[in-house]
Amino acid sequence: MDYYSKQISKLIEEFSSLPGIGAKSAQRLAFHVLNMPMEQVESLSSAILEAKKNVKYCKFCYTLTDDDICPICKNPARNHKTIMVVENTRDLAAYEKTGKFEGVYHVLHGAISPMLGIGPNDIRLKELMVRLEQDVDEVIIATNSSLEGETTAMYISKLIKPTGIRVTRIASGVPVGGDLEYIDEVTLLRALEGRTEL
Ligand code: ZN
Repeated sequence: MDYYSKQISKLIEEFSSLPGIGAKSAQRLAFHVLNMPMEQVESLSSAILEAKKNVKYCKFCYTLTDDDICPICKNPARNHKTIMVVENTRDLAAYEKTGKFEGVYHVLHGAISPMLGIGPNDIRLKELMVRLEQDVDEVIIATNSSLEGETTAMYISKLIKPTGIRVTRIASGVPVGGDLEYIDEVTLLRALEGRTEL
């Protein structure tokens, strides 16, 4: 890419390192940014910096939030005795969009994958077990239906079973290997309503 000056190349390179951005899109984005008014560029870069600096994990559910406790965990109208376990904050957002789930969440930030060397200690599983020492009625496992998601679901259910807390798994209306965030709300709701005991 030496037909561009150094700084333009650098900008294109940064964009192309983002997920889902190929070489062409990276160039388009770079030139778009260069054509943007200065204030807009400043606002974009400060939004990125501020989010990165201030966003942290919720003390209870470990979702990404800019407060110590996220709005869902803070909400007294939610049912704090039903915990839905999801792989990431995007999956949480997918279920929130349905507006039908009244419980709270637990965000694992990943799934167990022996192939990638990701074990139970690499996700927020210990933190979930600590939460279960409180009064909890049901844990709904809503990890993806990928191999990793299923492995994680099995592992968690085995861990929770001895505590006597009800463990359920969302129904597999969700396509195998499909990421929860791409699935429409009706399918998500059906998966939640059709959950089965583990
Ligand atoms: Zn929370």
